[in-house]
Amino acid sequence: MAIDDFNGDNFDHSDLDFLHGGWISLRQGGRTPISSNAVPAGTPSFGREFKEQSIYQFFRMLSVGTQGASLPNVNNYLDLDPTYTDKLGNPLLRMTFDFHEQDQNLARYLAEQIEDILTEMGASDIAVNKDLGNFDIEPYQSTHNTGGVIMGDDPETSAVNSYLQMWDHDNVFVVGASAFPHNGGYNPTGTVGALAYRAAEGIEEYLKNGGGQLVKWNLNNNEGRRTSDEPI
Ligand SMILES: Cc1cc2nc3c(=O)[nH]c(=O)nc-3n(C[C@H](O)[C@H](O)[C@H](O)COP(=O)(O)OP(=O)(O)OC[C@H]3O[C@@H](n4cnc5c(N)ncnc54)[C@H](O)[C@@H]3O)c2cc1C
Repeated sequence: MAIDDFNGDNFDHSDLDFLHGGWISLRQGGRTPISSNAVPAGTPSFGREFKEQSIYQFFRMLSVGTQGASLPNVNNYLDLDPTYTDKLGNPLLRMTFDFHEQDQNLARYLAEQIEDILTEMGASDIAVNKDLGNFDIEPYQSTHNTGGVIMGDDPETSAVNSYLQMWDHDNVFVVGASAFPHNGGYNPTGTVGALAYRAAEGIEEYLKNGGGQLVKWNLNNNEGRRTSDEPI
């Protein structure tokens, strides 16, 4: 069961210190023996008390979570690893990523909404995690890895245009979640599918035109920046 009231622009952000939001969900996917084995804070992690609490809590606890947007930050990026290479000697892709103020504020706000919901549901003991901490690749963080070949309206700051055609190589269209400049508070696949249709439209147009860039840019406007108004 999920609610969308605190996702995207579905709520008033005027007094809030972050953009976007996330969905809040209560999942009933069955009881996995380790990850569902919640015990109250302060319970030892083994021994008699742990066992007693585990058994007591097993059918008395539930977990409500959220999946929020992740916006771009200049300190989050991909580059080529200076040290590690693949078996052909090519540098591996290196990811530099951490949560920033926007992410922390978003997560804290959503955690507060979850706390309110659980209180209203009548929970006697609520454990809320309001601190996102630093990004850590070890615990599960969702499988929605996006970006890397981002779409944009400026070849200086993006790799593909809105048809997913590469700015630098007219005959290459890169289709996938790679095009996302940021991750919204929704799952990616619907948008990936829509982008595939968009790319197909572009490829058709490209073939009809006999090649070339589908989005035109002018390199010589006043500020030396490109605009989409004039042809190359
Ligand atoms: C366990 C799991 C659950 C998920 N659940 C959901 C969900 O419920 N809802 C949702 O919206 N999203 C979900 N996702 C995320 C979603 O699956 C991905 O965001 C989506 O598949 C990304 O699509 P893509 O085309 O960008 O990449 P992919 O689907 O990963 O496709 C990339 C393709 O490129 C190929 N490839 C890689 N390297 C090369 C190479 N060098 N040469 C040629 N081919 C290459 C790969 O084999 C692969 O076929 C889930 C992901 C996982 C792993």
